[in-house]
Amino acid sequence: MRQRSLIAVLVVLAAVAGLVLIRLSGRVQDREEAEVRQCVREVLPYVEQAAGKKLKHIPELKVGSRKEIEAVLAEEFARDYESSRLHLSPGEIRRRSSYWAKQFARAAAGLYLRSTKKLVVLPQNILALMQKTHVGKEHYHAVLKLIVAHELTHALQGQEGIQKRYDHLTTAQEKQVIGSMLIEGYAEFTTGRVAEAMHIPEVKAMLDTMQKNSLAIDQRYGGQAAISRRIVEEQLMLAQRFFSWHYANGGSPRLWQVMANPPASALMFYHPETYSPKAQSSVDRSSVLKGMENRFGSGPWNVITYGLDVIGLTAAAKEVMPDRADQLMTGIIDEPYLAAQSGRATVVIRLYVMKSKAYAPLVAAFSRKGFRKQFVPTDKSIPVTGPVESDIRIPGFDYVGRETLVVGTGSQRSWKRHYEFTRDNDMVMVFAEGVRLTDQQAASIAREVLTRLKGIESR
Ligand SMILES: [Zn+2]
Repeated sequence: MRQRSLIAVLVVLAAVAGLVLIRLSGRVQDREEAEVRQCVREVLPYVEQAAGKKLKHIPELKVGSRKEIEAVLAEEFARDYESSRLHLSPGEIRRRSSYWAKQFARAAAGLYLRSTKKLVVLPQNILALMQKTHVGKEHYHAVLKLIVAHELTHALQGQEGIQKRYDHLTTAQEKQVIGSMLIEGYAEFTTGRVAEAMHIPEVKAMLDTMQKNSLAIDQRYGGQAAISRRIVEEQLMLAQRFFSWHYANGGSPRLWQVMANPPASALMFYHPETYSPKAQSSVDRSSVLKGMENRFGSGPWNVITYGLDVIGLTAAAKEVMPDRADQLMTGIIDEPYLAAQSGRATVVIRLYVMKSKAYAPLVAAFSRKGFRKQFVPTDKSIPVTGPVESDIRIPGFDYVGRETLVVGTGSQRSWKRHYEFTRDNDMVMVFAEGVRLTDQQAASIAREVLTRLKGIESR
């Protein structure tokens, strides 16, 4: 159900393993496809009514087993990568499209493929999700209706060229988050209105529970999954509240207008009345991180830089430090980061600009706890060494903390290191996985970031 994004969000890497393949016989599939077709006929008038738009072309239906849908998705994603501006090699395209096809085929209940205008439904996943969330089989048809309503809303968005407007923004993370919040938030808001109109609001509640219990959860890393889930929940909640405010203040036409002219900042989701497509002038501190990935060794690196992600940070704070989340958010002024990936190596540099140095211990504790929560497996059968915590002394910093963690054995063994370098009101967090960093290398990165920061702040 989630919108697929071309760039994986590196804050929380949700790796998934294991693929259960159950083949459905041809006859069952014909029946399933007929049922979905019936749903489309039944639901479409409600979707059009709620959205205030007519769908000109009914999407082609693809109803199938995970294996079959995986093949459909791999082909679609490869086409998307080829026409994207990422300039990937054919091998890389194959690797990425088959990776994402597998993830989506394993977890999605439904999908709308914009390039080829296909509506994909995976009955197998819907039933698995229903079972996981204790929703009785008798609700299957009603659940299917709302899944179809959600995907038909995406088809309408595609027809109106909404997603297309966000495509050129894919390297700017905040814009990408805003784009996906608008697309998913609107689809959910509309699905809610369809459920009301069809007198099945309780089914929407079931669907919400199903969404929160995605099948794509890596059971080995429960902490990481909890953070990802919290972020998605926070995004969906805020986006729906945002649309509901705008709907009350201008009906459907206003919602299409907002989608066509995305809010300039993610902060506006917290205060719908401040919505504006024009950017407020503010310092872009993410520029101080530019090119830092070259200090980690030869690439090529796949890089994302990002300004403050208030929504993601708030959600992560609530999950990692529930009692002190508010205090933490009061203390952080900005939090740009850079995430780089090359093969099995991942590097993240995160700069915390704090209100005062009094917040440093709290921010450092948050960073350390977050590291543990994400990377120490909850599955006790996975061998773990550490995290080993050490306070190290490096001239030029008020405080330096270092944690080292080794997870797994043999070819699955992975080395992770996390640093916090504090100087006055600023803290630089450096995370490295699959690439060995010395204290001196990490310190020189932190020093460079802080020097560049002074440069832009004194301007
Ligand atoms: Zn969706």
